[in-house]
Amino acid sequence: MEVTAQSQQAEATHSPEDNGYKVAITCKIQELYYGDFLAVRDSDIDIGSRQITGFIGPSGCGKSTVLRCINRMNDLIRSFRFSGELLFHGQDIYAPNIDPVAVRRYIGMVFQQPNPFAMSIYDNVAFGLRLNRYKGDMDEKVEHALTRAGLWGEVKDKLTNGGLSLSGGQQQRLCIARAIATEPSVLLMDEPCSALDPIATRIIEELMHELKEKYTIVIVTHNMQQAMRVADKTAFFSVEISKGGRTGFLVEFGPTSRIFNDPQEELTKEYVSGQFS
Ligand code: ADP
Repeated sequence: MEVTAQSQQAEATHSPEDNGYKVAITCKIQELYYGDFLAVRDSDIDIGSRQITGFIGPSGCGKSTVLRCINRMNDLIRSFRFSGELLFHGQDIYAPNIDPVAVRRYIGMVFQQPNPFAMSIYDNVAFGLRLNRYKGDMDEKVEHALTRAGLWGEVKDKLTNGGLSLSGGQQQRLCIARAIATEPSVLLMDEPCSALDPIATRIIEELMHELKEKYTIVIVTHNMQQAMRVADKTAFFSVEISKGGRTGFLVEFGPTSRIFNDPQEELTKEYVSGQFS
């Protein structure tokens, strides 16, 4: 293959994981059902590589549902089905030959409640690497992941202590270290700060800014200020009454500053100005 100036530049600015893709994930949801219930409709979002994309909107509008679609976590729910397309670096992750477990290797997840495993700090971080039969220098990998998660300095002298012995904010950073140890490309975060105090929240938000140098991040947040602080782009979802219940849909997606300062849709205007009931 001929190496052009353009491809050399792409190599210099992107890791092999994102291969120079500007859009990491193309999410096109036409209809998403749990059984007979239409939970989400018409939501198309292009998630930019190495950007933070925030999902906001009222409770029940489908933010977590759409997030869980991105790494096939909804597959674990029997009644789930959707029509549309979910591409990761141009590849259909719902294609019949794709293993959902492999998808989650590239697209990791951090949950609302910090959920360290009942094992040592070290073993928590090494968990995924061992599962993947990693044969290299485990100590180095563990240190690297904990450093990236901003936790190394606080735990380096007590790596054999239980992960559950840490504070809530430290536990969440441990979960982030565990998620990034296997070097995914995308990190999905479902309200990662909702169980944390303001100081721990700030630490996680600062960490997200550092992590986006290397990772594509999608965060669900019920906190509009948090979306304004961390997200490069924001997707605003709303809900409407439908036959089977309340159906969520994407209202507007764009640069965060535009969504909050110059929304194009009336529903967005109402929501960001606090008029939504
Ligand atoms: P949000 O994250 O915006 O609060 P969710 O994605 O959690 O919204 O939920 C969207 C809708 O889907 C809600 O009506 C919720 O009750 C429903 N829902 C979520 N998970 C399931 C599930 N496992 N089975 C059935 N319905 C679900």
